[in-house]
Amino acid sequence: MKCVALTFDDGPGPKTGTLLDTLVKQKVPATFFLVGNMINVDKAMARRIAETPGMTLGNHTMSHPNLRLIGTTKATKEITDNTLLIEKVTGVKVRFMRPPYGSHTKATDAVAKKLGQAVVNWSAGALDWQYNTAAKVVAATMPQLAPGAIVLAHDIHPWTIKAVPTLIKKIRAKGYTLVSLDDILGPTTPGKTYTRGLHP
Ligand SMILES: [Zn+2]
Repeated sequence: MKCVALTFDDGPGPKTGTLLDTLVKQKVPATFFLVGNMINVDKAMARRIAETPGMTLGNHTMSHPNLRLIGTTKATKEITDNTLLIEKVTGVKVRFMRPPYGSHTKATDAVAKKLGQAVVNWSAGALDWQYNTAAKVVAATMPQLAPGAIVLAHDIHPWTIKAVPTLIKKIRAKGYTLVSLDDILGPTTPGKTYTRGLHP
């Protein structure tokens, strides 16, 4: 089976609810790498993601710094504080961490390991930070797909939310099954980095 997993970073955002409606309607699982400062803006939305069947929560730090550039003490706090916040707000103990900009170090990997989190980057970027229309986001994503692909998009952009129904349709038309991060990665090891899933 050819599988692809969708991941959404930097939220929750104002339109995350609309995205959840789409994912539920289309029976598509997804992972949300939440930013602590955004959770504090909309705790109810963080809880809603957690309570929606098929959705996984991940750690995307408190304030989205480049972990390579802020020193180990601050980086440790960024990763740890958001872990605790997510657990406090949603009750979920996260098992996946995505470093902002994909930028991590041996030291930050060790923090993730200690917290029981695998480091998950991506193999296909929706480039929705670069483009600002749904059509461009879909066009940028499709050629990067391959069996086992982990797609990175951002639920803080309205054009991304708008692109998702088309993206799902086109991904399925190519014969892919949309699966969760757990399904595409299989068993993971805390502290280890993953950029793509299984591709039998
Ligand atoms: Zn991010």
